[in-house]
Amino acid sequence: NFDFLVVGGGPAGAAAAIYAARKGISTGLVADRFGGQVADTMAIENFISVKATEGPKLVANLEEHVRDYDVDIMNNNKASNVKRNETTGMVDVTLENGAVLSSKSVVLATGARWREMNVPGENEYRGKGVAYCPHCDGPLFKGKPVAVIGGGNSGIEAAIDLAGIVEHVTVLEFADTLRADEVLLRKANSLNNITIIKNAQTTEVIGDGKRVTSLRYTDRITGESHNVDLAGIFVQIGLMPNSEFLQGDIELTNRGEIMVNNRGETSVPGVFAAGDVTDSPYKQIIIAMGSGANAALGAFDYLIRQDG
Ligand code: FAD
Repeated sequence: NFDFLVVGGGPAGAAAAIYAARKGISTGLVADRFGGQVADTMAIENFISVKATEGPKLVANLEEHVRDYDVDIMNNNKASNVKRNETTGMVDVTLENGAVLSSKSVVLATGARWREMNVPGENEYRGKGVAYCPHCDGPLFKGKPVAVIGGGNSGIEAAIDLAGIVEHVTVLEFADTLRADEVLLRKANSLNNITIIKNAQTTEVIGDGKRVTSLRYTDRITGESHNVDLAGIFVQIGLMPNSEFLQGDIELTNRGEIMVNNRGETSVPGVFAAGDVTDSPYKQIIIAMGSGANAALGAFDYLIRQDG
């Protein structure tokens, strides 16, 4: 039994575990894969106070920092259910291997994953031109042509953001209409280095073996195939929270994000959440860490108000 159990080993989970352990309470951390999305990241240049680092290096630093404290790390373990026992007030976390961990408080920090295009070349050129985060990787394409895949709010926001940095942005939308808000579309249409193409189905990412050089799409009306020369492709077709296993037990938004208040509290007493899996508007490493620290302090406040 723990006082404090974190589910998730990304930046949010690591920060929560460190903050809890520093309070001297018994702390556990269960993670499917320690490091989370950071493990899949190449260059990181916006982790404030560290000018430049790489994902695997930051993951190693995170793990070293967590291991400096008395935290019971259970890596390669996936949670399949989280429920509060109304009689004991304990929160039970069931793992896929059948084990049940009980804790007085739990922080859910299971993160999110970008929806992928699932076309040839996407995996091969991930981090070599194929990108998912304009705030992170936009500056790497300064003065070069790029594409944004997806004409929803995040796609059009990304196009407007990138237009100020890169040479030209081509937005490719699968549908015949753009789902983005009118005000964003007006802004995008006012910028002369954004081209929006509708009814465009991306079919292939093409590169020279080292980096992306172009993208192929099919015009869904004419059936014709087209090539766009570019240096980068920002995929903006959705960020999916890893919260499927919580459905029905914890209040989620219609996008599946865990709803939290400003102390990281969820709809279930004793259960807190932090990072990309929550309804926080912006998803970044530094924000996830702050959110993890915040949820841990919220949980500590909760614990000192419990009897026994
Ligand atoms: P995650 O990092 O997603 O970690 C989630 C953790 O939960 C993982 O350990 C995972 O294994 C675990 N988990 C999930 N489900 C379960 C389960 N059921 N049971 C147990 N464990 C589970 N941000 C920046 O600030 N700068 C950048 O340069 C940057 N570049 C990026 C590049 C890429 C390619 C990607 C994908 C993201 C990038 N980001 C960047 C975003 C950043 O990585 C995330 O905002 C951040 O990692 C979120 O942290 P988190 O702890 O909330 O979730």
